[in-house]
Amino acid sequence: MSMFPQQDATALNDKDPEQLRIHSIETFGTHDGPGIRFIVFVQGCQFRCLYCHNPDTFDVKGGKFITLQEIEKRVLRQRPYFGKDGGITISGGEPLLHRKKILTLFKRLKEQGIHTCLDSNGRLVNKEVEELLEYTDLLMLDVKHINDDWHHKLTTVSNSATLKLAEMREKQGKPMWIRYVLVPGWSDQEEYLHELGQHFKDFTTIEKIEIQPYHKLGVHKWEAMGMEYGLEGVEAPTKEVIEKATAIFSQYFKEVHVN
Ligand code: SF4
Repeated sequence: MSMFPQQDATALNDKDPEQLRIHSIETFGTHDGPGIRFIVFVQGCQFRCLYCHNPDTFDVKGGKFITLQEIEKRVLRQRPYFGKDGGITISGGEPLLHRKKILTLFKRLKEQGIHTCLDSNGRLVNKEVEELLEYTDLLMLDVKHINDDWHHKLTTVSNSATLKLAEMREKQGKPMWIRYVLVPGWSDQEEYLHELGQHFKDFTTIEKIEIQPYHKLGVHKWEAMGMEYGLEGVEAPTKEVIEKATAIFSQYFKEVHVN
C-alpha cells in the first residue's frame, strides 16, 4: 500500500505551481485592457453576481489546466501584435484565487517587457495580493456596488475587501481602472452613483471608469446549468440611463468610458 494518501490528478495539478486552472483563452481581445491583449480567463469565483455572463467559471474545481510555460510561450509569440499598449490580461472567474501562480507568470513576463493587467473583483487583500499588484501594470477593479447592502444583493458578498484593495492600489501609486456594471433598478440609482464618485474622487491612480451596460448574453448558460437566473425581466439600460450615469461619473472621474 502507498505511504501517501490517494489524490486525484486534478488535486495534484492544483498543487503544481506551474499549472493554472483556467476556463478559456482569448488571443486577440480588445475589451479587457488597453490595446490588443492575450486574455486568460481563470476558473473559480466566490462571488455570485446575479448578472454573471460566465457562471461556468464559478466552480473552483472546474475548467482545465495549462502550464505557465505554455502561456508564456503563446504570449511571446503574440507579442508583435501588441503594439505599444497591448499585453496580457488575467480575468475570470477571479484571478486572486490563483495569486501565487499569476505572480510567477507576471514576474517572468515582465522580465520580457510584457504589459500585465489584472481584472479582479478585489475579493482578497493580503501580502500575496500586494506583491502580485506590484507586478501588475494595470489593475481593473470591478466595483459592483458602492452600497454594501446592494452589493450583497447583487453578489452575495460584502464590498469591503474590494474597497480595501482599491486603497492598497492607491498607496502603491500604480494605475487602476474602475469597472462598473450598470443594471437598471439595481446599480443605476443616482444617489449611489454619486456616492461611488465621492468615494473615489481623490484617488490619484484611477485613470478612468468604465461603464459596462448590463446585457443578457449569459442567460442561456444559467439555464443550461439548471440554475435560476436572478435578473429575469431586467432589461439592458436605455441610452438615457447610460447617459445619466456617464454625466454623474464625469463629475468625479477624469475619463468615463462606456464599453
Ligand atoms: S465576479 Fe465576475 S466571474 Fe465572479 S460572479 Fe461576478 S461577474 Fe461572474
